[in-house]
Amino acid sequence: MLVRLMYVSRAVEGAPPAVLFDILKKSKANNHKAGITGVLCYSEGIFLQALEGARLVVNALYNRIATDPRHFDVMLLNYEEISERHFPNWFMGHIDLSRLNSSVLLKYSEMATLNPYAVSGSVSMALLSELVSAAAVTK
Ligand code: FAD
Repeated sequence: MLVRLMYVSRAVEGAPPAVLFDILKKSKANNHKAGITGVLCYSEGIFLQALEGARLVVNALYNRIATDPRHFDVMLLNYEEISERHFPNWFMGHIDLSRLNSSVLLKYSEMATLNPYAVSGSVSMALLSELVSAAAVTK
């Protein structure tokens, strides 16, 4: 059975840009083996990640991620059983918001900044879907 899980978190202060690179590299390798797909969006210290895959492995991964010392304030935004994946093309796609027109963020929030803490899970999911449609995801 497939599930999709989405959460938001804050990067620890002063985390070097290399941290994101390390996380993506490890994620792609691990997720490939575990059959997990998804996207990781990072902007100004905020992570927004969607994970899809078997219920057991997605739950285990989320529990592991939640204790990772490289971020904090981990908040579950959405968890659902799904019949098909939304992000089948990425073992962990990266969305770099700094390369995008701010109108995409403004469409879904009060300010042109990524703040999933202030909007509903369905709004954050709509934002991720739009970013995928806009081909903003890199492998
Ligand atoms: P190893 O890489 O061998 O790590 C062993 C332990 O060391 C783990 O507890 C790990 O948390 C810790 N660790 C490793 N590197 C560092 C470091 N630079 N600083 C501090 N502690 C460190 N993992 C995935 O597999 N898939 C994902 O999609 C995924 N997404 C993530 C998203 C975010 C925002 C963050 C912060 C982490 C993410 N991770 C992801 C990493 C995850 O939290 C674990 O670090 C990783 O899964 C552990 O992989 P491993 O079992 O191969 O152990």
